[in-house]
Amino acid sequence: DSRELAGKLQGVLELFEKVCSDQEDELGRIDAVAGDGDHGQGMVYGSHGAVQAGRAALERGAGARTLLVHAGTAWSESAGGTSGALWGAALTAAGGALDDDGGADDARQVVAIVAAVEAVRRLGGAEVGDKTMIDAATPFAQTLQTEFDRSGDLPASLAAAAAAAREGAEKTKELTARLGRSRVLGEKSLGTPDPGALSFSLLMTALAEHLGD
Ligand code: ADP
Ligand code: MG
Ligand code: MG
Repeated sequence: DSRELAGKLQGVLELFEKVCSDQEDELGRIDAVAGDGDHGQGMVYGSHGAVQAGRAALERGAGARTLLVHAGTAWSESAGGTSGALWGAALTAAGGALDDDGGADDARQVVAIVAAVEAVRRLGGAEVGDKTMIDAATPFAQTLQTEFDRSGDLPASLAAAAAAAREGAEKTKELTARLGRSRVLGEKSLGTPDPGALSFSLLMTALAEHLGD
């Protein structure tokens, strides 16, 4: 049911918080190449805020939808920064695709994940090739949808989608940033992956491994 799903989603938020803490220094280092160096910190603050809000929601007996909507708001407020607003919108959109009563079958979970990526695209306005998290999130969502439609196997589809996200993040090394930074700073980023694409691929890889266990 939805309470059970809410508990599982809280576990995913806690997983994200752990990965963000583990990767904080590396994400900050990469963001410092052509950005302001705060991506690791933003992801740590955001995921921590989401975990706190999720825990409070669970204690009040919230279902899956409410939990994710509150977690998304908290992520955005706690992180500040561009990626915080985008991750907040993603969680809130995923929650909007779920209910507070009743669980969600695998097909509905795919709808929620695709809605999260769509929210990032809508809010950020980035396209593939702009050197943003969209370069990882777009192949991730496309692969998830295609593989799930073909196989109906959510863990396997998520594993394939996470691999596509890693490949997309890797490809951002060859790009120069066109959004969110000056062109001059963007050119410095050649050879370095986009921090938001990298963190997205790391979180989706952890999620796929978590669900595959
Ligand atoms: P800030 O840029 O405000 O310091 P962060 O450093 O936390 O925020 O996040 C930077 C990341 O946000 C970038 O690496 C990129 O992946 C992502 N990003 C920036 N602008 C956009 C956008 N318009 N659409 C999608 N992602 C974006
Ligand atoms: Mg930054
Ligand atoms: Mg910043």
